[in-house]
Amino acid sequence: LRFGSLILLLSVFFAFTVGCSLSPIEETRYLMGTQVSITVYDYDRDKLSSNQLGTVVDSAFREIARVENFAHRNNLRNMNNWAGTQPAFLGNELISLIDHAYSLSLDTYGTFRPDLGPLVSLWGVGTDSARIPLYWEIEDKLELISETIFTVEDTIMGRLDPFGASLDLGGVAKGYAVDRACLVLKDLGITAGMVWAGGDLKVFGRKPDHEPWRVAVRHPRDPEKFAAVLELYEDAAVATSGDYERYFEIDEGRYHHIIDPGTGYPAINSISATVVADLCTDADAYATAFFVLGPEAAIQLAATFDLPTMVMEERQGEIIELETSSFRRLRASDESAMVQ
Ligand code: AMP
Ligand code: MG
Repeated sequence: LRFGSLILLLSVFFAFTVGCSLSPIEETRYLMGTQVSITVYDYDRDKLSSNQLGTVVDSAFREIARVENFAHRNNLRNMNNWAGTQPAFLGNELISLIDHAYSLSLDTYGTFRPDLGPLVSLWGVGTDSARIPLYWEIEDKLELISETIFTVEDTIMGRLDPFGASLDLGGVAKGYAVDRACLVLKDLGITAGMVWAGGDLKVFGRKPDHEPWRVAVRHPRDPEKFAAVLELYEDAAVATSGDYERYFEIDEGRYHHIIDPGTGYPAINSISATVVADLCTDADAYATAFFVLGPEAAIQLAATFDLPTMVMEERQGEIIELETSSFRRLRASDESAMVQ
């Protein structure tokens, strides 16, 4: 009889878990210049019914489109266009994001800089006007950037000086969009989910199968391989900056989209940098900064901030990889295991 009740208990448990489980719902759209995927693994049945999940996912995508507009166009674009002449309305949210970007700049010895706009446009990587600038053009822009000042006026207005200065939030905007999309999903009743935007990703909640999140980091040179597979047991963001994301090639030289603010040229110390943090906004900015710093300096700095980090470089055709011990601890014991 005891055996019988155990079987019964087990089958009830089985029916319960099967009844509650949901095969993940995934949707991909093209936003912020990249593929963006949202996956829902579980949701609060008191708040939502399964036929509302599509609308919730749609709201999260709309949030990403909102961030794309406010971080790359509209008010920010006005402030850039009016640099040296007049302030522009920015609003609290954009001002907080810019302030946060400046504080991340301080934390990273200025290797991440929100005011690199003039150099980003000069190189034009990823646009039709991409080209190798002349030496004096780069010197000119470096001087302009060193003189750039951002000031907040009347708490909601922002002003840039001098004329020609411009902010470029490309190094944090995707991460911020991922954070925001996760907040929207959680607010609307999603209890386990993942948002992935190009190199930036965030996972939250507990999957119904109680397995850890498995996150694969792309290998910068071999699309068939992964540079790492991480096993995450808690909410976390993972961002990767790579020289393979956006670049142009001339005479076998690769000119990619991450600029070293020290030289004005694409950073040459790394081919890929991956950072794990709580906020995807931070992971995104640190990944860009650590890419510029290169493996040795980046790993040292990452260790002081307690940020699990991996940086790869290519020396004479050989790929060298450095990582913090905290990153090593996140690696899956069986890296060939199924990847999601
Ligand atoms: P990510 O792909 O996150 O590394 O960000 C790269 C984007 O950030 C570029 O496309 C530029 O818009 C901008 N960017 C390039 N270099 C830097 C830098 N050193 N600091 C901050 N933003 C940068
Ligand atoms: Mg970044």
